[in-house]
Amino acid sequence: MIYHELLNEKQTEKMQIEKRLRKAIQKETIEVYYQPKVDARHNIITGVEALVRWHDEELGFVSPEVFICIAEEAGLIHSLWESVMNIACCQISKWNKMFNQELTLAMNFSPRQFQDSSLLVHEVKAALSSYKLNPGSFEMEITESTLLINTQETIKALHELKEYGISISIDDFGTGYSSLSYLKNLPIDCLKIDRSFIMDMNEDDSNRKIIQAIISLSQSLNLNVIAEGVELEYQKDFLLENGCVHMQGYLFSRPLCAIGFESLFCSSDGQSID
Ligand code: C2E
Ligand code: MG
Ligand code: MG
Repeated sequence: MIYHELLNEKQTEKMQIEKRLRKAIQKETIEVYYQPKVDARHNIITGVEALVRWHDEELGFVSPEVFICIAEEAGLIHSLWESVMNIACCQISKWNKMFNQELTLAMNFSPRQFQDSSLLVHEVKAALSSYKLNPGSFEMEITESTLLINTQETIKALHELKEYGISISIDDFGTGYSSLSYLKNLPIDCLKIDRSFIMDMNEDDSNRKIIQAIISLSQSLNLNVIAEGVELEYQKDFLLENGCVHMQGYLFSRPLCAIGFESLFCSSDGQSID
């Protein structure tokens, strides 16, 4: 196939995804899955990360890795976020009552959402307050790419959110290109060690060194640290030995639909998922 035909095919596929996604947002068929965040010392669930899910009638399951960037380019990311935020806040507020325990809720935010950051701050606060959720139990996950664009506006928004009580985590930490100086200038609460380091920990000794360095960086800057993509027991053991107790990954649980999370939480008899 010649190059421009391949490009056309890609373009058509993108337009199809965009059209179907717009429809899914309008028809409110977007779903949210929840992956437990665990204190691995006792395998206790402390909260969840909300992850968007989309099963389309025509296209089947489409991964967020594919459609998030299309949503960004098409200007759909804000309305997609509104759907996810509403569903997740409503769910967490039910669970907090049902389980009589306050779970933390982490949400992913795209860099594009900070282009109108005052609107974003306003809407985050409005959603939390309308579901009567404690801002202290809400975590905003951003990547370093968010800090690379729109800096002044973004910094102002992050400070406002922090003052409101929200925690800010750097997702996929260690894979970005921004300078580390933002760690001292910005109200960051937590570093999320990227799963690529965890996965290849045994093949490559330098990955273990990088993990140790991120943990020690977070300790010296008084930041929390969490590891994502923990799939195997030896990865958990290595992290615990090195002082990282908060984890997420298939070893504990895959992302689950609301009913799936409820039965995991209930069967774990007050949180422990041993
Ligand atoms: P992320 O925020 O870093 O989320 C972690 C991803 O790793 C999720 O993929 C999760 O299902 C997957 N994962 C968790 N544990 C394991 C594990 O042990 N092994 C492996 N191999 N994978 C694991 P998912 O749900 O496909 O999401 C991919 C990315 O899409 C997310 O990465 C996030 O950047 C983005 N995303 C997902 N939901 C949203 C959303 O609501 N809004 C925005 N803006 N982005 C989202
Ligand atoms: Mg995340
Ligand atoms: Mg990540």
